[in-house]
Amino acid sequence: MTYSLDSIVAWAKRRAFAFPWSDIYGWLANAWDLGPYGAQLRKNILDAWWKHFVQERQDMVGLDASILMNPKVWEASGHVSSFSDPLVDCRKCKYRDRADKLIEDHIAKNKLTLDEIKDKIWADSLTPEAWTFDQQTAFLSEFKVKCPKCGSCDWTEPKKFNLMFKTQQWVIDWEWKDIYLRPETAQWIFVNFKNILDTTRMRIPFWVAQVGKSFRNEITPGNFLFRVREFEQMEIEFFCENDEKKWLEWLQNWKDTCEAWWIEKIWINKDKLRFREHDPKELAFYSKWTWDVEYLFPWGWWELQWIAYRTDYDLQQHMKFSWRDMQYTDPMTGARYVPHCIEPSWGLTRAVLTAMIDAYDEEEYTNGNWEKETRTVAHFHKNIAPIKFAILPLVKKDEKQVEIAEKIFHDLSKDYFCEYDDNGAIGKRYRRQDEIWTPFCITVDQQSCEDWETVTIRDRDTMEQKRIKISEIADYIN
Ligand code: ATP
Repeated sequence: MTYSLDSIVAWAKRRAFAFPWSDIYGWLANAWDLGPYGAQLRKNILDAWWKHFVQERQDMVGLDASILMNPKVWEASGHVSSFSDPLVDCRKCKYRDRADKLIEDHIAKNKLTLDEIKDKIWADSLTPEAWTFDQQTAFLSEFKVKCPKCGSCDWTEPKKFNLMFKTQQWVIDWEWKDIYLRPETAQWIFVNFKNILDTTRMRIPFWVAQVGKSFRNEITPGNFLFRVREFEQMEIEFFCENDEKKWLEWLQNWKDTCEAWWIEKIWINKDKLRFREHDPKELAFYSKWTWDVEYLFPWGWWELQWIAYRTDYDLQQHMKFSWRDMQYTDPMTGARYVPHCIEPSWGLTRAVLTAMIDAYDEEEYTNGNWEKETRTVAHFHKNIAPIKFAILPLVKKDEKQVEIAEKIFHDLSKDYFCEYDDNGAIGKRYRRQDEIWTPFCITVDQQSCEDWETVTIRDRDTMEQKRIKISEIADYIN
């Protein structure tokens, strides 16, 4: 079942997963903060990623590098000259958009084929991102692409809009230097390649992982957390030799690993996940092979992650700009070469959104009075559910119940994120936990006070309650 993004956003706001950014000052459109449950969900996804890819592997190390970098990094990487989108304005209402995305939507909506467009604009692919500005201009006018806001077809010509956020750093004597907030985390891995090689026991092939904030001045942020200007990435660079047979094998291997991670660790619906190989015309200029991992969002198939073979482009560029030797010497053969790289790159913010969309459900059930009711639930897997146990004393004024419930909270919260809730009727408290998909609700009642040994535990899937010993609670989550 697919639900509208509006219902998911309303639920996320109501249940403390996300709040509009700077709300009390009137909000800045399309920017969000993660609320208490969203923050915990993010942490659980990040932990699942770090554990699976860094902790459990012998050939991977992690890095935590800064957001601000020497601006030369971005000259070397090509971001200063080419990290841009084609911006167009509607002459009538001043609406602003990306030319390539407008065209892509128009092609999809009208199911246009390459044969139908190639003679009019001399395009040899259906990937507007790869077209020249002249081809984009010709398409917008030939196919009368409408402004989504006012319906006019009068667009300015595309111009390059660099997506990097610029700021200034004080140097000396009131001299300020332009620097950038990083638009991706990967470059610091390349910059630190030699440091890692010289100070750890890593030998090629090996992986380096990095998680952190990235900033992009997106022309059209939107779709909730999907496209925002400040977001988090989880990126890995795999340094390997330049052997075509081997890197094809590694790419396939890595594709399977990523697919398994999404399905088995984050519990994403398999049927809503697909891998799309980039058309050669669509490839970034430094890449020889790219896969987009796409998810079926309420507005269609869009990128969730990508896996790219970046060749030796980045290390060669940093070698050229920094004058430092980035070559690797094979300890067995003595061969010296600049390593090649495969990059799987995830958006953590986009992963949080995907987990919410994938889990959200409106479920019909029969209540205790045999009446049909609907409950909103988010089917998070227990590994990523923000709260694992809710501890509910049945009567909040009963001192004994409170004492037992507090002790259970105290003991369980050492290992699990728990919530203590003594507010309102028990049915309402269960509903609240269902909405955030807490796997287990533990209720302390009169009998708990009599035997000091048992509580009831409610399973969110079946809504059944069982009486168990307090000492057996932790086994439930496993
Ligand atoms: P898109 O085509 O959606 O703009 P991209 O190809 O520019 O994405 P990459 O540079 O490949 O994105 O970044 C890797 C990952 O970072 C993406 O797969 C996505 O999950 C995430 N990401 C990129 N831009 C944003 C953004 N503005 N907001 C949230 N996540 C983002």
